[in-house]
Amino acid sequence: MKKFIPNYYINSIFDLDVSFLLKHQKKCVFCDLDNTLDQYDVLNPSQRVIDLKNNLESNGIELIIISNNKAKNKQIYAQRLGVKSLFSTRKPFKKRINNFIESLPYGKSEIILVGDQLLTDVLCGKNANIEVMLTEPISKKDQWTTRFNRLIDRPIRNHLRKKGYLKSVEVSNG
Ligand SMILES: [Mg+2]
Repeated sequence: MKKFIPNYYINSIFDLDVSFLLKHQKKCVFCDLDNTLDQYDVLNPSQRVIDLKNNLESNGIELIIISNNKAKNKQIYAQRLGVKSLFSTRKPFKKRINNFIESLPYGKSEIILVGDQLLTDVLCGKNANIEVMLTEPISKKDQWTTRFNRLIDRPIRNHLRKKGYLKSVEVSNG
């Protein structure tokens, strides 16, 4: 059960205050795409994602998409947003993410992984030894593989909540 306890929790990445990241000396946000930033069937970054990326950037924090999605057209999404990306990451496994980190100028303690799933995002953070922030999925629409994961995710999440492990970090009021 310990492996499923995120370092931080917030309802949505769009509620996150940049000052939280600065306070924790984060220079890079590894962000899951599907249902963390946008719905899985969206090809163009929504305005709030563009705003988020710009806000992070102006505070010296790089946003990078780290996704298990294999679809080619998802790379278009990352290109349009103007961020680096790693697809087919195979979260929760750490191999690809660790190799990717070697190409970046950040130490692991400067990176935070943000995602909406316990079985992929949170476990991956634990496996790779990167701090991880769990969010709620931004929509109820999921790919079929994710729908299966949710069946396992939901009861664990409810358990963690009951135990008090999912207390939200300070949210932005802007
Ligand atoms: Mg997701």
